[in-house]
Amino acid sequence: MSVLDIPDTAVEPEPLLRTEIPGPRSRELHARRVAAVSRGAGWALPVYIDSAEGPWLIDVDGNRFLDLGSGIGVTTIGHRNRSVIAAAAEQLEKVTHTLFTVTPYEGYVRLAELLAQKTPGTHAKKSLFVNSGAEAVENAVKIARRHTGRRAVAALDHAFHGRTNLAMAMNHKAVPYATGFGPLAPDVYRVPNSYPYRDGLSGEQAAARTIAYLEQRIGAADLAAVIAEPIQGEGGFIVPAEGYLAALQEWATANGVVFIADEIQSGLGRTGTWFAAEHFGLVPDLVLTAKGIAAGLPLAGVTGRAEIMDAAQPGGLGGTFGGNPVSIAAALAVFAELERGDHFAAAQRIGATLRKGLTALAARHPVIGDVRGHGAMIAFELSVPGTNEPRQGLAPAVAESAAQRGVLLLTAGSDGNVIRFLPTLATTDAQLEHALTIIDEALAAHA
Ligand SMILES: *Cc1c(COP(=O)(O)O)cnc(C)c1O
Repeated sequence: MSVLDIPDTAVEPEPLLRTEIPGPRSRELHARRVAAVSRGAGWALPVYIDSAEGPWLIDVDGNRFLDLGSGIGVTTIGHRNRSVIAAAAEQLEKVTHTLFTVTPYEGYVRLAELLAQKTPGTHAKKSLFVNSGAEAVENAVKIARRHTGRRAVAALDHAFHGRTNLAMAMNHKAVPYATGFGPLAPDVYRVPNSYPYRDGLSGEQAAARTIAYLEQRIGAADLAAVIAEPIQGEGGFIVPAEGYLAALQEWATANGVVFIADEIQSGLGRTGTWFAAEHFGLVPDLVLTAKGIAAGLPLAGVTGRAEIMDAAQPGGLGGTFGGNPVSIAAALAVFAELERGDHFAAAQRIGATLRKGLTALAARHPVIGDVRGHGAMIAFELSVPGTNEPRQGLAPAVAESAAQRGVLLLTAGSDGNVIRFLPTLATTDAQLEHALTIIDEALAAHA
């Protein structure tokens, strides 16, 4: 099998550009794409990828990009991790599909056992597997409603939960996620979050504000669930003030409301721990996983208190592809990799390097208003100097300049003024330093 036998470029410090960006073959493919693919599936950078390795993406023109987005935090343990490839290949040779709810298989059960061990809390837990993050969100809401017999669900300001019908109603941003796609699902409410850089509130104050909204706008008697990303992803890696999430959860528990942690972007090693909830001493009732769980194969999970997960009637949950055996095999390999512990250390190293480098950049570029995050989930927010007002337009310009030099950066934030780092844990400090130099130069050029 030659797929496992490719040159190891993982430690090269810099991107390698052979053509202008996008190159001629990418431009050709892009013309075909525009003719054949719905414009609803937008694009960030029209370079067409041929292969990948560790922290690198290689495009069809032979350009090698440093991938600091990991397909939005999916290939966390590195592109083409050898044990994931081996596990998926072995499963492909055995059986690719039976449908777990018709004729089951061991891997699904094993992954449920592992999630029960690794998600926060020592209580009895059960899991369900589906295909995408949005589907995990939908199922968690169904389960919470069935368990509580209540109708309403509350999401936080700046939240992102997906693009299916229910999930799009739960997102902060109507544009582009909901515009023109209504009617939206009813009984979804949005309440203020904790955003220390913008609101200046302590965790206790922010929680009191959120709880007042929950009690006044919805009322606990009708509220099935509160859903929160422990660190908000698309919202711009907003880290809530200390004590905020714990206070929110305490209120939820006291009022019979299911507390759902959406760890789809923040979970599974990304922040240097199994789950970001651990940074906040949070023990959610339900935990949602997807993105990094199977290193790129489609899979998502809902894991939580056994009595809540069992509220659903047999046959009420599931789906044809949910918990596909090849995806599950890849996920089991991801868990084995994370279990070794050096990936957590790598996430912590990456976080320390980025935080130090970005703090130094902030001293030179007053437009950097905030540096935040945990582990390999770090972002900086661009503000009008001396204020916390969003500096518009600069984040996309910096990302574009970096792409022209072979570094793929993602923007984020409800105002589009945040640059977020979701590197693979295979990224070296030398590669991060190179990216920081490019960002430094881009900020100097554009600011
Ligand atoms: C990406 C994401 C989702 C949606 O996941 P899909 O697999 O794209 O449906 C939900 N919640 C969070 C926090 C996410 O980052």
